[in-house]
Amino acid sequence: MVAPDESVVHGSKAPDKAAPKDLPALDKLLRECAALVAEHGHTLVAREARGLLDALRTRAVAGELPRAELAALPQALATRVAARMRPNMRAVLNLSGTVIHTNLGRALLADAALQQVLALTGAPNNLEFDLDTGGRGDRDDLIEDLLCELTGAEAATVVNNNAAAVLLGIAALARGKEAIVSRGELVEIGGAFRMPDVMSAAGATLVEVGTTNRTHPRDYEGAINPRTGLIVKVHTSNYAVQGFTASVDEATLAPIARAGGVPLMTDLGSGALVDLTQWGLPAEPLPQTMLAAGCDVVTFSGDKLLGGPQGGLIVGSKAAVGRIRKFPMKRALRLSKLPFAALEATLRLYLRPERLVQDLPTLRLLTRPQAQIAALAQALLPALEAAVAPRFAVSVVALQSQIGSGSLPVERLPSAGLALAALDGRGRTLEALVTALRRLPRPVIGRVHDDRLLLDLRCLEDPALLTGQLGVLKEALA
Ligand SMILES: *Cc1c(COP(=O)(O)O)cnc(C)c1O
Repeated sequence: MVAPDESVVHGSKAPDKAAPKDLPALDKLLRECAALVAEHGHTLVAREARGLLDALRTRAVAGELPRAELAALPQALATRVAARMRPNMRAVLNLSGTVIHTNLGRALLADAALQQVLALTGAPNNLEFDLDTGGRGDRDDLIEDLLCELTGAEAATVVNNNAAAVLLGIAALARGKEAIVSRGELVEIGGAFRMPDVMSAAGATLVEVGTTNRTHPRDYEGAINPRTGLIVKVHTSNYAVQGFTASVDEATLAPIARAGGVPLMTDLGSGALVDLTQWGLPAEPLPQTMLAAGCDVVTFSGDKLLGGPQGGLIVGSKAAVGRIRKFPMKRALRLSKLPFAALEATLRLYLRPERLVQDLPTLRLLTRPQAQIAALAQALLPALEAAVAPRFAVSVVALQSQIGSGSLPVERLPSAGLALAALDGRGRTLEALVTALRRLPRPVIGRVHDDRLLLDLRCLEDPALLTGQLGVLKEALA
């Protein structure tokens, strides 16, 4: 890339290159960009102008600054300022094939939830104000009746996420005591959330019963003693134990816990609120079933199969939920008003079960028919081919989506999408395509498998979000 005229190192004498003295003074540049200063204020624009001029000066000293760039300084400054104001957290297109993707923000909020967030967070609200009495209210009161109605629980409360719900539940019910868990359920859920560590963080002594593959009722019975504070069941959501296995379900365990005088808590992880098999999806245990089976506390996430915001939902008996609510740690783990607004609106959608598939994006995406996704892939094929030609071949392929977030790990949903392969057969070329897609204004996230980039179209509800960027992609690949 070294052009002959760049051999002059100290200040270019080439007529098309600018010298450091050709750069405008800071004040002059700012005067030229008065509209930008009016919009963003002096501080930000001046800081970016200084940074821009410094970078250009370095290139000018090296004789590497084309004169033409000087004419475009106001535009370059505006671009820098816009880049500084652009949040790092951005909307992306999830074409990974994993619907509830933990790294991509999990469940998408329903319109009703989005509207509620907008309406309630820009204005004062009655988060902890009782509109009937004019006195102080409790945020739980806004949501407890609804959660009880939907799950059949006596009492309910919500915290920051399900990890917090589990931690709080164990701490409130078993701090300074023993908590019994099956060895088959001592799970790690995404990085730092490991059941044995949660136990010690909550101040409970873990008592392991059974073996990795088999745990029996007598294992629990034998472990209960006067120091026992709690029996914990954990839904092994992110893996499956198959073969010679046995575990004790909640219906069997509840009478054992009751006879021993200790509460039974179950962590469902995903916790769908409706039976998913009615839409041909795999069965997932419901909080209402667990409560009916005799659990004292059930915890589950707000942003997995429920389809709402991040949150930890705790439902159960008046006695157990009452202890959890009064435990001091609850205050530190409480749900903030943004997700609270979204959670209430999401839960209300469950009062209209017939409409759920339209109303809840998560359910809508999970139940999207393969034929519809395949038709979309076919329709997008020519435009994508044109954008990545001549280096990549594109084809329509049948794919298998996953639900994600540890839900139903072995189940797959028939899906469809586009497969892109480098025609020169080199992995580096494919990597360049993956990177170019990730750098689009709305980054496109697919998955690489067997030297092909797979774009699963199950979660692409608005194809214009992809097609509208293909011009930029073509340029990036050129
Ligand atoms: C996902 C999950 C958690 C953690 O829930 P968050 O809402 O992500 O904090 C805990 N337990 C199980 C079984 C899970 O699947």
